Amino acid sequence: MYDIIIIGAGIVGTMLAKDLSQYKCKVAVIEKENDIANGATMANSAIVHTGYDPEDHTLKAKLNVEGARMYEQLCRDLACKYKQVGAFVVACDKEEEERLHVLEKRAIERNIPYEWLSGDEARKKEKNLSLNITKALNFYTTAIIYPWQVACACMDVAMDNGVELYLNHEVTAIEKREDSYLISTTKGTFETKHIINVSGISADKIHRMVDADCAYTMRPRKGEYYVLDNDIHYVDHIIFPVPSSKGKGVLAVPTVYGNTLLGPDAEESEDTGTSSKGLSYVKENIQKTMMNVPFHKVIRTFAGLRPSSTSKDFIIEEVKGCHGFIDVASIESPGLASAPAISKYVIEQFLNDMTLEKNDAAVKTRKKPIVMADLSAEERDAMIRENPLYAKIICRCESISEGEIIDCIHRNCGARSVKGVKKRVRPGMGRCQGGFCEPRVVSILARELGISVLDVVLDSEDSKILTKENLTIRKSRDK
Ligand SMILES: Cc1cc2nc3c(=O)[nH]c(=O)nc-3n(C[C@H](O)[C@H](O)[C@H](O)COP(=O)(O)OP(=O)(O)OC[C@H]3O[C@@H](n4cnc5c(N)ncnc54)[C@H](O)[C@@H]3O)c2cc1C
Repeated sequence: MYDIIIIGAGIVGTMLAKDLSQYKCKVAVIEKENDIANGATMANSAIVHTGYDPEDHTLKAKLNVEGARMYEQLCRDLACKYKQVGAFVVACDKEEEERLHVLEKRAIERNIPYEWLSGDEARKKEKNLSLNITKALNFYTTAIIYPWQVACACMDVAMDNGVELYLNHEVTAIEKREDSYLISTTKGTFETKHIINVSGISADKIHRMVDADCAYTMRPRKGEYYVLDNDIHYVDHIIFPVPSSKGKGVLAVPTVYGNTLLGPDAEESEDTGTSSKGLSYVKENIQKTMMNVPFHKVIRTFAGLRPSSTSKDFIIEEVKGCHGFIDVASIESPGLASAPAISKYVIEQFLNDMTLEKNDAAVKTRKKPIVMADLSAEERDAMIRENPLYAKIICRCESISEGEIIDCIHRNCGARSVKGVKKRVRPGMGRCQGGFCEPRVVSILARELGISVLDVVLDSEDSKILTKENLTIRKSRDK
């Protein structure tokens, strides 16, 4: 019998797993995919919004402001990237300037630092800003992170402290018993006293497994992006148009590894593929705030699904008549920025009946991964003397060594697929998009996991890459 089962291993589920691992309780995370952070957490703008955008008196506003303030220390503790780059919200005319004053009022009330910039001052700091920009509000404490790095780090800490992770277990039914719940999955059943439903776009389906009368319906909204190569520093700050009722608009966002994201659009859809319609929208709309957009530097496009719903606010509550079943639903943007505060809120508000006892003795901080690019020349030399595989470069675009790849496979929440390695240490993120390094990553995964190369998957359990035929062709070419 588990004390708590978390359904869904996105940023919120993994954050909860990390935080609950510090208490004396038996916790498991159940995830339908073959890796964690494969839902909204995988494909978003990666911005730690400071909290000026959500409407007054909402949970979104409260938890966004709190969560954003927790991130810097959190990323330091977890050895994750965090970069305070600042965000310009830019206006092109008097009407838009008026709307900036609404954001300013919220920023004052929520104690969020900002400064006003004229169009010229903004362009001095950001050379590719459109000549149409008349004014900007600079929220200079806005930061960017690498979302799935944070999720993986949280899950590493959780598992180091005893939390169990069940991948490829899709929850299909939940039976409410007198003092517990029986969860059925595609690979077995689990009994638990509490359930935290953090299943993103499936939250309403999971809710209906215990209560047919679900007051909200999930309405996923797709957002599509272009990714620019990191050899061109197109923007230093995040550039937002003035937000509208439809959302935050099309942005230019620097990433922690020097790329630029252009996007997203917003369209109700459950399909994660990109489309010419969505990308054309991005292309057209980015030019309202930016100029000299280097579309010839696009190395990739991607799309993510916002876990939006019929509710405008986050839904974080115990389901009526279902003691111990907590919905954490409708976690659309700023869900990433709010995640640390959402986790704290859930534990304080809904799990206090468990008299959770701190398990200080078992608390371990995360073993810092070796990142060769972040080391000094002397530190790199020392690492290579200790283990020459840190000198064997597998990904030439991003300079990732075999030693780093092996390390990410052997962590508690280690990579099991090519995409899992890519998410954790980034081979395949560069200009060639894995064209050179992917076959080598396949061989390393096979060797380290003790499986045949034919069984190595790209992502899901059924996404095997090689067949006997193309392996034979490859071997004959290699001769
Ligand atoms: C285009 C876009 C841009 C965004 N930009 C930002 C941003 O810049 N800043 C910000 O703060 N937020 C942003 N967000 C929002 C942010 O990404 C989400 O709020 C956050 O990732 C939600 O995390 P989650 O853990 O709730 O959900 P998810 O990451 O979706 O995780 C839910 C998990 O549940 C699993 N699951 C579903 N059904 C089942 C089942 N039956 N059984 C088992 N497991 C199941 C899924 O596989 C998934 O792994 C953006 C979102 C999108 C899509």
